[in-house]
Amino acid sequence: MNEVIIELDNLKDLKKIIRKNKDNDNIKILFKYNGKLYEKKDESIKEYDKYLEVIEAFNIKDKRKRLSYIYDNLCTYFDNDMKKNNYCEFKNGTCIANRLKRSVHAYNGCCYKRGKLCEFLTDKGCINPNPTCKIFMCSYLNKVKKVPNYDTRKILITSCFLDLKGHNFFKSNYFITKSEFIDKYINKVG
Ligand code: SF4
Ligand code: SF4
Repeated sequence: MNEVIIELDNLKDLKKIIRKNKDNDNIKILFKYNGKLYEKKDESIKEYDKYLEVIEAFNIKDKRKRLSYIYDNLCTYFDNDMKKNNYCEFKNGTCIANRLKRSVHAYNGCCYKRGKLCEFLTDKGCINPNPTCKIFMCSYLNKVKKVPNYDTRKILITSCFLDLKGHNFFKSNYFITKSEFIDKYINKVG
């Protein structure tokens, strides 16, 4: 296995290196910082988390496992951002669009499939983390609150590993489970 060492002064090249070598199973990337080598996130250098996540994903050579890592990472990213910004303003089972009648539904946000409540919505919330569901913002959020849809092209980890087909796939596969998502992705995108 060949090792590519990334340091602070060439961290900006990480995306380029990954895009060029993401299908090469013989290269491993390491981040050198203060004389130490890192291949995944480390509490002592939290400020470099987003780069180390990308490096860790690159070093996973099994296609399904890498996709699973990216999937989980993206869901966590959206959850944290949504929690921080509270865009949907949920209160007692209703979101802001439900309360203002800007949604066709009166409660439970937009977790409906063909007019029926999604089977994955429980008293504890959604039990099926799906990145497409998390990417979606309704027209109230888009047009009134001016919250743009999440864009996987602007998130480092997905911008490193996905091509246009992959980005389109991530924004158009609502409701399905993680294993269905991964199977379908491998089948349709590669
Ligand atoms: S995206 Fe819109 S409709 Fe869906 S939960 Fe958020 S505010 Fe409600
Ligand atoms: S799978 Fe999607 S639509 Fe269903 S509960 Fe989860 S977030 Fe809502």
